[in-house]
Amino acid sequence: MKNVTVLAGGVGGARFTRGLLAHLAQAHPSVAGGGSSVAAGSSAAVTVVVNTGDDMWLNGLRVCPDLDTVMYTLGGGIAEDQGWGRPDESRRTSSEIAAYGRGWDWFTLGDLDLATHIVRTELLRSGQTLSEATEFLARRWHPGARLLPMSDDPVETHVRLADAADEHAAGDLIHFEEWWVRYRATVRVSEFVQVGLDAASAAPGVLDAIAGADVVIVPPSNPVVSVGTILNVAGVRDALRSTSARIVGISPIIGGSAVRGMADQCLAAIGVETSALAVGLHYGARSAGGLLDAWLVDETDAAAVASLAAAGIRAEAAPLWMRDVPTSAAIAERALKLALAG
Ligand code: GDP
Ligand code: CA
Repeated sequence: MKNVTVLAGGVGGARFTRGLLAHLAQAHPSVAGGGSSVAAGSSAAVTVVVNTGDDMWLNGLRVCPDLDTVMYTLGGGIAEDQGWGRPDESRRTSSEIAAYGRGWDWFTLGDLDLATHIVRTELLRSGQTLSEATEFLARRWHPGARLLPMSDDPVETHVRLADAADEHAAGDLIHFEEWWVRYRATVRVSEFVQVGLDAASAAPGVLDAIAGADVVIVPPSNPVVSVGTILNVAGVRDALRSTSARIVGISPIIGGSAVRGMADQCLAAIGVETSALAVGLHYGARSAGGLLDAWLVDETDAAAVASLAAAGIRAEAAPLWMRDVPTSAAIAERALKLALAG
């Protein structure tokens, strides 16, 4: 196995990929201890295609929540308890911005994190693409994997509100992050709209990373607004359909609930039940025109394995809580085994 490609959102995708890199380094410890990159000791090169649908402009800066979560997590610079942003943060700059009556008081940007957005924005304004800016930022963090934004073109997920909220009327479109962070996904949604999708193409390297992979992994990321967004980028579904890679997914739903966060609200909005079985069937069997060759569910969802198999998806049950790096690495190991079996 030479190439592994992961289609990731933020927290779930980042934690899984960190475990994957740890597993690969463990399985091939030939240069363990040398170098700063975890992948240096692995036999496989890992590419992470990251959702950029959550990206937005804030106070004149381009913020890419999922790219940054993946970069900080893999680079050892994540605030572990919250899953996003940097540890030991201060908020002096956002307080100053708030004192001018500007900014979004529901979205916090720490001082250390702001440096990333300032450098990224400077690079974008000087004419670099998001891929180039991402590569530049990642050079500092040594993530041990190649990080690719799904697209260099802005594609922003918006939600159409079914109910009024504050200054917004029912039917208004608001940015996904406003619905997610400001309203904690509590306002009903009638649809998700990917603004900019029609004019967007996959970033350089994305389609090749799918075509040239031995295994493509759909990590336990939000199926609607993380993985779903990547799948909708032109060419991605076709690349997944025609790749010779095995495609394996890991359920982000355990025992009928979204483990961290509010993915159940997103699933409800597209009419998919919050269960490991329903999400597996939503992705669908590759043999029936869907995405998956294989699907890993949690032990508590073992009863779903037979129904998944009946639908043409090879499934197994394993502990899927990513409590730390070793438990995430064990999940990655099981997923790779399942992908390559059969
Ligand atoms: P976001 O962009 O930060 O929301 O992150 P992702 O889209 O990558 O992943 C979020 C999803 O990961 C959550 O909705 C959960 O369903 C899932 N998740 C988080 N932690 C775990 C875990 O420990 N195990 C599993 N199986 N899923 C998890
Ligand atoms: Ca996200």
